[in-house]
Amino acid sequence: MSKRVITRAKATPERVWLGEVSAVVLQQALADLNTAYRNFFASVTGKRKGRKVAPPRFRSRKDNRQTVRFTRNARFAVLGNGRLRLPKIGDLAVRWSRELPAEPSSVTIVKDATGRYYASFVVTTKRDESLPTAESEVGIDLGLTHFAVLSDGTKVAAPKFLRQAARRLARLQKSLSRKVKGSNNRKKAVVKVARAHAKVADTRRDWQHKLSTAIIRDNQAVYVEDLCVTGLGRTRLAKSVHDAGWAGFTGMLQYKADRYGRVFARIDRFAPTSQTCSECGRIDGPKPLSVRLWTCLCGATHDRDINAAKNVLAAGQADNSNDRGAQVRPASVLAPRREAVTHPDAARSTRSVERVSAL
Ligand SMILES: [Zn+2]
Repeated sequence: MSKRVITRAKATPERVWLGEVSAVVLQQALADLNTAYRNFFASVTGKRKGRKVAPPRFRSRKDNRQTVRFTRNARFAVLGNGRLRLPKIGDLAVRWSRELPAEPSSVTIVKDATGRYYASFVVTTKRDESLPTAESEVGIDLGLTHFAVLSDGTKVAAPKFLRQAARRLARLQKSLSRKVKGSNNRKKAVVKVARAHAKVADTRRDWQHKLSTAIIRDNQAVYVEDLCVTGLGRTRLAKSVHDAGWAGFTGMLQYKADRYGRVFARIDRFAPTSQTCSECGRIDGPKPLSVRLWTCLCGATHDRDINAAKNVLAAGQADNSNDRGAQVRPASVLAPRREAVTHPDAARSTRSVERVSAL
């Protein structure tokens, strides 16, 4: 494949532009294709568990996000003057979000839909220091009326970033639709829409970082009810569900727990946490969402969401009591894409270092 789509292709007049970039970049694209096919076949034959993986598709011409990856072979370098040297591109000025903890093994340059460029390094680092042990443990019920309700009674209001920005987005979208296809003004309008969306996403991520960091810092163990986000996303509530961004939030809780030596677990999504009395354990039957307060036969009066969070905590502690010892030295974790915060107060500086692997 490499010979055919790289070496020989470069010799043809139609593909001569492939020679304008480092060959390593082309090889990396081929390597990604290989991984995609391998994942697809592993999924088809059942060797790969979890969600079905689709075969790779051609990159869409309309896709505004572009990336190139340089490995060590490409001889990229971080220069003493803080510039990033890339083969066939040159020395780039970088706004560093923080110092690299070690020599990077690769760098990915990402251009997002709004035209912003990011340099994302892969670095091997030592595990971060665990935080001092906290006394409390917490169960979290994620919902739509409140973003999160904690078993200690804290209610975190849902920030409706997308809804708030909806009017502005609608206006920009309308302006875009009026532009002539293929025109320069249309291109500009596309960037404006992308920028408005990116702003919403950035604000949401920042907010989620602050909340997840605070929860992990204050609690030794965190249990969350695992919601069926894909299922809910197809319902009438879809917009609110996607606006809330639970998946991203629980993902943050998980890797921050791994990183700082905390326990994190998801509770079976079919556990009837909103039907069970957290005082006596009686299962009181399903309750419509309109029921915010209810009284159990044992006499305890419950706030629907706080009661659910208490049950999540109890279920998590029960699940976990057997293998608590196994959590002392958690396995190494790969930092998820776009999240590379190592210090609790550095949640806002995720701009240019996006991907870091921790050993
Ligand atoms: Zn009861």
